[in-house]
Amino acid sequence: MNIALPLKTDFPALQQKIKGHDLVWLDSASTTLKPKSVITAVHQYYTHCSANVHRSVHTPSEEATAAYERSREMARKFLNARSTTEIIFTAGTTDGINLLATSLSRGILKPGNAILITQLEHHANIVPWQMLRDYHGVNLRIAPITATGDIDLDAFRAAMTPDVKLVAFSALSNAIGTVLPVQQMVRIAHEAGALTLIDAAQAVATMPVDVQALGCDFLVCSGHKMFGPTGIGLLYGRETLLDELPPARTGGDMIKSVTFEKTVFNDLPAKFEAGTPNIAGAIGLAAAIDFLLNIPFEAITRHEEALLQYAIMKLQEIPAVRRIGTPQKQVSIVSFVMENVHPHDAGSLFDDDGIAVRAGHHCAQPLMQHFNVPATIRWSFSLYNDMHDVNRALESIERILKVFS
Ligand code: PLP
Repeated sequence: MNIALPLKTDFPALQQKIKGHDLVWLDSASTTLKPKSVITAVHQYYTHCSANVHRSVHTPSEEATAAYERSREMARKFLNARSTTEIIFTAGTTDGINLLATSLSRGILKPGNAILITQLEHHANIVPWQMLRDYHGVNLRIAPITATGDIDLDAFRAAMTPDVKLVAFSALSNAIGTVLPVQQMVRIAHEAGALTLIDAAQAVATMPVDVQALGCDFLVCSGHKMFGPTGIGLLYGRETLLDELPPARTGGDMIKSVTFEKTVFNDLPAKFEAGTPNIAGAIGLAAAIDFLLNIPFEAITRHEEALLQYAIMKLQEIPAVRRIGTPQKQVSIVSFVMENVHPHDAGSLFDDDGIAVRAGHHCAQPLMQHFNVPATIRWSFSLYNDMHDVNRALESIERILKVFS
């Protein structure tokens, strides 16, 4: 089966020159570029409607509400949730984790309970739990990874003591590309009586994410990492749990009735969406989902796999390059350092050649500490990249090494 992937021309950002070169975008793990259909959907909302949702009886508001709720249904379909009541719009992955952390601290988690995360996590899946540790008396434990950057499953299993009430981990490491055995880890957590939160920020644009198949209790992702707008994201939660949990944020729209004495909260999902939401973002996200649902995921995975394997093979031929993280299963992302070249300097020199890469700690400083490096250079691939992009980046490495030789 040979399925045509979207063309570079579908992405207006790729039509620009950077320092005289065609832009090569190897920073999709940071944010993906937006296809025309997403840009058009956001533009149309602001041009033709731009009314608030769930409030007025006038036609523009009813149209905006219908479009916003259609977006929720698209998100439900994309994640294969059972019901739209399980889909909460957030501002992104970070926001979703913070929202959940606040709500859990008011509802399910008690002082003395423990939360288990892994050594691979993005700061967004570390710091909110440290806040619960510091302000709510919850313990925070870290499941170690191996020298290759894989989860140590035996240690993970051993860490599942009875006080662990929540296990939160990323499906795909943004810093080194490790694919975690999500289903297996969810099963281990559930067998030990813990709830599970999957950080799917990196996974959603690269592999199918089906909350029922994964069996997780909560899942978060960001629109901008799956071809959608910034400032919009999803929190999936099992309906029974979301019903049980108190809201994290309060105000308009999340209530049924208010007196000065008492407020009755709204039903799901409104209970978790206080105030005017990111309507344009939700509509743009629905367009992004539509874009993604029209491409079989196996075609995306196969394409990114081919680029990654080629890049890894070529990088390994360069003696001055050292890969950081060599996990058993790796997709879309490769991290490396170059002898005598600081990653930030390398990042600027790649930019001189029109190649956008990420150089830094990737919001995963504990992981950098594990590998004993302050930072790495990261190439991340998406469906709009091709072998020519990889070759251009490889030529750039040769030039950078000459500058520092
Ligand atoms: N988790 C992972 C694995 C990520 O890669 C990122 C962003 O890079 C985040 C969380 C935070 O996402 P956002 O900045 O969209 O909230």
